[in-house]
Amino acid sequence: MPDFQAILESIYQDAKQASDKGIVATYIPELAHIDKNNFAIHLRTSNGKCYGVGDFNKLFSIQSISKVLALSKAISLIGESVWDRIDVEPSGHPFNQLALLEINNGIPRNPFINSGAIVIADILVSNLENPKEDFLNYVRELSGDASINFNIDVAHSEQSTGFKNFAAANLLKSYKNLNNPVDKVLDFYFYQCSIEMSCSQLSSVFYLFANNGKCLQNKLHLTGSQVKRVNALMLTCGFYDEAGEFAFEVGLPGKSGVGGGIVALLPDHFVISTWSPGLNVKGNSKLGMLALEQFTTKTKLSIF
Ligand code: GLN
Repeated sequence: MPDFQAILESIYQDAKQASDKGIVATYIPELAHIDKNNFAIHLRTSNGKCYGVGDFNKLFSIQSISKVLALSKAISLIGESVWDRIDVEPSGHPFNQLALLEINNGIPRNPFINSGAIVIADILVSNLENPKEDFLNYVRELSGDASINFNIDVAHSEQSTGFKNFAAANLLKSYKNLNNPVDKVLDFYFYQCSIEMSCSQLSSVFYLFANNGKCLQNKLHLTGSQVKRVNALMLTCGFYDEAGEFAFEVGLPGKSGVGGGIVALLPDHFVISTWSPGLNVKGNSKLGMLALEQFTTKTKLSIF
């Protein structure tokens, strides 16, 4: 077994000294003031051990990372019919790009670009009794951590500036790929994205994807084949137009968010979460990607 704590420490030392820490997302005003010197890594192994460096208990906005959890809830509610309304192909374009949605007649390329996640939000709004509350409870149940919550200021901040998401939802509506009213679906979507977690909570919540669908409390949420699909989508679509680069450099399924978080995993081995708020030009955490590249290189643990 590699000395995980020593490896994380050495990655942390390098990250602290990095001269270019990327740029914090400003298009959601509430995220613009986050200090880009925050840095954390947390590792949870399948044999129950945890390792961490930096601010791994500090909360941050998980943003698009929530799309994996929303997808997994939608799959557990309506199964394969999710794929009648969303494709499973990488987009090769930014997360908020709309051109492909028109070219593909209102069928989003995958569930992790914004238009795809908005269709998933529509599915959850249709199938959950109290969508926001039920979704939050699902996330809490996956980790056994009832302290996980929305950040209402972040949700409202995006509500007042998320013009492109309104455009996406309206486009979906025009193609009859949105059953509920635009405002209702986006209200849910903005709350979903506003969930805050620490790296250590993120590693717990995502444990089921490294553990054949069984969460930390040993409850089965997804079948083995459903987990295989979600992980395949994280590998091919988890980093927008940088999914190829992430597979190339890191070699793990994973998901990023504009809050600067990344979660990645090796089935049957571990979940690893990083947080560094500065983003690269593709909207993925700059130092988070570098840290994960170093981790899989130093430990020689990747799916390849
Ligand atoms: N809530 C953000 C948005 O819709 C999520 C984007 C992201 O994390 N990449 O723009």
